[in-house]
Amino acid sequence: SLADLDDTVPPAHRVADRFAAVPHPQPGLFENTPDTDPSVRSNREWADEILARVPSSDLGRATVAAARVSSEPELESLVAATRDAGLAWAALGAQERGRILHRAGDELERRRAELLEVMASEAGKTLDQADPEVSEAVDFAHYYAELGLELESVDGASFVPAGLTLVTPPWNFPVAIPAGSALAALAAGSAVLFKPAGLSARCGALVAEALWSAGVPREVLRLVDVDEDALGRQLVSHPSVDRVILTGAFETASLFRSFRPDLPLLAETSGKNAIIVTPSADLDLAVKDVVASAFGHAGQKCSAASLVVLVGSVATSPRFRSQLLDAVGSLTVGMPSDAATRMGPLIEAPGPKLREGLTTLGRGEKWLIQPRRLDDSDTLWSPGVRDGVVRGSAFHRTEYFGPILGIMTAATLDEAIDIVNEVDYGLTSGLHSLDRGEITTWLDRIEAGNLYVNRGITGAIVRRQPFGGWKRSAVGAGGKAGGPNYLVGLGSWVPSAAVG
Ligand code: GLU
Repeated sequence: SLADLDDTVPPAHRVADRFAAVPHPQPGLFENTPDTDPSVRSNREWADEILARVPSSDLGRATVAAARVSSEPELESLVAATRDAGLAWAALGAQERGRILHRAGDELERRRAELLEVMASEAGKTLDQADPEVSEAVDFAHYYAELGLELESVDGASFVPAGLTLVTPPWNFPVAIPAGSALAALAAGSAVLFKPAGLSARCGALVAEALWSAGVPREVLRLVDVDEDALGRQLVSHPSVDRVILTGAFETASLFRSFRPDLPLLAETSGKNAIIVTPSADLDLAVKDVVASAFGHAGQKCSAASLVVLVGSVATSPRFRSQLLDAVGSLTVGMPSDAATRMGPLIEAPGPKLREGLTTLGRGEKWLIQPRRLDDSDTLWSPGVRDGVVRGSAFHRTEYFGPILGIMTAATLDEAIDIVNEVDYGLTSGLHSLDRGEITTWLDRIEAGNLYVNRGITGAIVRRQPFGGWKRSAVGAGGKAGGPNYLVGLGSWVPSAAVG
């Protein structure tokens, strides 16, 4: 069973030849779905065919066929109908729901190429960023299908689904996060009102289509398009909405809470994440991981590295900075349609906060590499690295959500940990060190939900690295996504004798 698997094993970096049949994991035995292996020639040809269909200029936005809700009576009838459909879904039982969800995993896998194409076209994701996202969505389907079964087989207690779940995902992981949130609620026996992010509505619609074609009834997974200004508040605070799964800014979670103080919320919110590099680190590996964590998807990840804290001689000698400068300077910025692109565009022109981060230095800071605006659309920006970030400054504490990395320094590991813990958030955190004592100290003291040693700090893997935050990076109750406790937050336990 899942419980027998050892969660301490490192991720197996399985990779697939997309033209060979990828063996389906045996029922009951969860295995992570492999990413596409770019070293296989046929895979590269497959990727080129996808890229040929991706527009080379602006990101394309399209309206999708969703249930448009523009008046209160429409909202009422949609909520009531979805809630009713949920009763039948709950009554199906975990076995049958699990079968459908395993099929959903297969459908998502079957549509990998289409999902990659739309993620690149609509969200600006390069294929190396988009491909693991499909794997994660597939993993969520198979993993939650199995977890749903485990929930039903607890002696002496029965799991009662929450009922109606509202899913409001972000645009930055436009496939994995909506898929994971919806699949979790479905596996736990609830119907879902799914409102995709406006900037990635096509990705959201594709996820819904995959789940529908696997057998999830359209009435049970409802793709909705709500006029947020007029009706967002009513929807979030509707008494028939039993759970809200939100991934987004801390401010959005606070806003939802202000609509309805007792809102049962499972929210993964903002981050201001750092990687600490000590003198014992493998510096080549550290540079590679810092660059990937800071600039993957142009830094538009809650999990991204926004600070690197250099300790002792790493801070005082020029080596790390000069290697970092070379690595960042060599990133090719462009549209995802170009296979040479290493860093793609921002999803839209920067808002005031990000623009400030891209253009304005704080006291004592200087650019090691200054970000530059590369085109008229205002979405292509080269990556930036600022040195001399001062403890307690705006850059130390603010999430910018873009391709800017700040360097801070500390005399000791303890001081570096204090610096990292001083921010309000605690989502991901990294340490590069080959010293066991340092690793233990850091693990004991660091305040973040996801800890990574000698690895990049983005790209959590279902079951192996359940994903969720601490401090202001999480709001409401709920286990970590992709972990064994996530579904528990989507229902409640009652003594078996009390049920039926
Ligand atoms: N799960 C993603 C990761 O591990 C981050 C999700 C987010 O940015 O919201 O990189």
